[in-house]
Amino acid sequence: MLKVGLVGWRGMVGSVLMDRMRAENDFALIEPIFFTTSNVGGAAPAEAQGAPLKSAKDVDALMLMDVVITCQGGEYTAEIYPQLRGVGWKGYWIDAAKTLRMNDDAVIVLDPVNMPMIKSALFRDVKDYVGGNCTVSCMLIGLGGLFKADLIEWMTSMTYQAASGGGAAHMRELLTQYGALHAEVKSLLDDPHSAILEIDRKVLAKQRAFTAEETQNFGVPLGGNLIPWIDKDMHTGMSLEEWKGMAETNKILGRGRGFELAATPIDSLCVRVGAMRCHSQALTIKLKRDVPLADIEAIIANDNEWVRVIPNEREHSIRELTPAAVTGNMHIPVGRLRKLVMGPEYLSAFTVGDQLLWGAAEPLRRMLRILLEK
Ligand code: NAP
Repeated sequence: MLKVGLVGWRGMVGSVLMDRMRAENDFALIEPIFFTTSNVGGAAPAEAQGAPLKSAKDVDALMLMDVVITCQGGEYTAEIYPQLRGVGWKGYWIDAAKTLRMNDDAVIVLDPVNMPMIKSALFRDVKDYVGGNCTVSCMLIGLGGLFKADLIEWMTSMTYQAASGGGAAHMRELLTQYGALHAEVKSLLDDPHSAILEIDRKVLAKQRAFTAEETQNFGVPLGGNLIPWIDKDMHTGMSLEEWKGMAETNKILGRGRGFELAATPIDSLCVRVGAMRCHSQALTIKLKRDVPLADIEAIIANDNEWVRVIPNEREHSIRELTPAAVTGNMHIPVGRLRKLVMGPEYLSAFTVGDQLLWGAAEPLRRMLRILLEK
């Protein structure tokens, strides 16, 4: 059995990975060894069969692994990965963090979309397999059919990304802010005759008075607000999250730098909203030619077993195309499909995906399965 080291298994992505691995019985096929950065010698999950947690910084212990799966984060990868490769470790590194994604000798894994690329990399003995940006992976499970049919000339993505994209602490901060705002106006809400402008004024005053501690993770209020910037400033007018939209999509599809096919232009504007979990995005797509809407729906729906085309009608949209409807589900709904008034080659779409499943944990566990079946 392959010895598989699990690092970062108790974080946001790691917990969802553990759930999925249990649900799919993956642990029956591997010898799991659990690592930690904060609780060496502590109790590991039941799958460790009593073995205590090992230090995730112990390169000698990691050296013994055939596979390391890490959901620990980019700083951990930047610190430990070079040390491990530096001492000659030849195992497979499967990672949720962005650190290695754009390296020439790393593959961004999303097997329903790029299985041929993964297989070819395994054949060439590539050892690094990295999950993609969550928004990109969810979008490609939804719209992979249009890319595979080579129908997309360019695309824009306007995102509505949940608090959980930042990790566990960010979700807690959002809820704490909502609670504080509600407490501020509870007595006024309880009185049906109170003035709405007074409630509004008090909520705004409270948002503006949040302390540094109350906005420790997002920097500004997110409860009752939105934040039109995610991740670092690239100093090109783009955020790093927006840059990933084009760079990672094309790398997953085998387009652009280092590939024979030209890159597909993709522009994004990424916005954090007060949703708990699930990233949503509104897409404008310029098709390479006028394709009837019914054919477009069929191409999208038939691409893989997880995508669902949602009728472009009010009731379906408000019930099936929201974070609350999609959280915890593997399926990716795609709706609001219509040709735009700009012309028959212009298409709109809206899609929502649980970014902790297809956007993070699922491609990693599926990569492990691919290795096991190799
Ligand atoms: P996270 O929830 O902050 O967890 C990361 C690590 O923090 C854990 O493994 C744990 O390590 C430590 N930790 C400290 N306090 C904790 C607590 N109270 N509860 C749980 N863990 C705690 O981060 P994440 O969102 O899972 O992200 C991990 C990586 O995946 C990052 O590189 C991120 O960019 C990437 N990613 C995230 C998402 C997403 O939607 N969140 C999507 C795609 C990719 P120890 O057990 O060693 O202490």
